Formats: sequence, C-alpha cells, structure tokens
Amino acid sequence: MFGSPGSGKGTQSKYVVDWLKIPQISTGDMLREHIRLGTEIGKAIAARMRAGSLVSDELVNQLVYERIHQPDCKRGFILDGYPRTTAQAQEMMRLLATMGAREVVIHLVVDYNVIIARMAGRRVCPVCGTLYNSVSKPPKVEGFCDLDGSPLSVREDDREEVVRERLAQYEASTMPLIEFFRKSSERLFEVDASKDRPEVVFGRIQQALLKAGVLNSGVLKSCSVSKDIPAGVA
Ligand code: ADP
Repeated sequence: MFGSPGSGKGTQSKYVVDWLKIPQISTGDMLREHIRLGTEIGKAIAARMRAGSLVSDELVNQLVYERIHQPDCKRGFILDGYPRTTAQAQEMMRLLATMGAREVVIHLVVDYNVIIARMAGRRVCPVCGTLYNSVSKPPKVEGFCDLDGSPLSVREDDREEVVRERLAQYEASTMPLIEFFRKSSERLFEVDASKDRPEVVFGRIQQALLKAGVLNSGVLKSCSVSKDIPAGVA
C-alpha cells in the first residue's frame, strides 16, 4: 500500500488488516525493534536510521524474507514501508513468485493541495496537547484551546514548507516504484483518496482487492463477506 503523508494510508491499512485478518508488516517497526533490543543488526543500522537514511536493500530484503515465511503470513500480509527502492520491489516480486503468492499494489492518490490545506489547518494546544483542525475539529473559540484556553500553535511538522518538502520527497522516491509496478504488475490500482470519507475510500480498496481475485485465493475464507463488504461492492 502506497500513499503520501496525509493520504490516510495508516487508516486504510488498518481497515484491510481488520477485514482480511492478515498481519501488517512494517519494516520501520522491525528495524526500530532491532535498535530497541540492541541486536547486532540494531547496532549496525542505528546511525543511518537516526539520520533518516534508508538502510541497505540486502538487510531489509532479508528481514522481509524471514518475516513472510512465518506461519501467520500463509494467507497473505500487508507490507508497510516496503518496498522503498526499485531493487527491493524486484526482490519482492521474485520472493512472492517463489511462494506462489501474488502482489496487489494499492496506490492512494491524493491531491497535494488538499493535503496541504488539511495539514495547514491543524493546531495543537501547547499546554495539554489536544489537537484541532479548522475543518474537521475546530475549537469553540478560534485560536484557543477548549480545555484550558491556551493560545493554539502550529506543530513544526505541519508547517506548510515542511509539508511541501515531505510531499516532494515522497513523490521523488515513490514515483519510480509506481512506474516499476505499472510495467511489471497486472494488479496496480490507483485509488482516489482525495476528498471522500475514509469508509468510502476503503470501499474502493475492497473493490480493487476483489477485482484482483483475493476472494479466489482463499484469503477471505474466514471473513464474512456479506457482512463486511459494503452494499454494492461484492
Ligand atoms: P517513515 O514513514 O517516518 O519514514 P518508517 O517507519 O517507514 O518511517 O521508516 C523509518 C526508517 O526505517 C526509515 O527512515 C529508514 O531508515 C528505515 N526503513 C524502513 N523501511 C525501509 C526500507 N524498506 N528500506 C530501507 N530502509 C527502511
């Protein structure tokens, strides 16, 4: 599942996990766990992780290889934060082929102006930490916290220049991957995630997964299709 910062990727991944009852595999979480436990791998990657640089393809590929051969991945899994490079994408395709598994690539497509407006509308109370949004959760009195009346501020991460920079970085690193899957996958789905409610976006993802044939792969055997799929999708 690919999606820019602010695209709702976290929310949608969680919906898919709950629906299909398959594990979500986050390479970032696995790497952080190695650092926390102080393993050899953890020691080797700590500096790169702190600097926000990617760790080597070989290492990440190896971690993913080991993880997806665990028994809980038999019916499928969602990859989060992987692949990040074309070399990783090639290795992923090769790995899946050896397992007799098939990829489905979901790209959450959003209008960057919508994301910038959404993130620019976020405010936080510097005293109690409550989050507000001028569109979806405005404070009762503009500019002040409902709970303690403190003047609200903009988080460093949400400043427009910072958001634009993160989006530009995302675009530069992800577009080559989307291009790769355009050429090498029959199951790349570009899902419009710009403006509709999360449940509506999830309906589109379900449609894509059904079209990709996950129903036939046995993955849905333990899911109640009639109950879990919104009307009109199946
Ligand atoms: P973020 O979305 O903030 O980048 P992640 O949890 O996905 O967070 O990743 C955190 C860090 O872990 C990355 O900055 C990078 O150093 C490392 N990392 C995670 N996934 C990969 C990957 N597929 N390839 C290389 N490095 C990765």
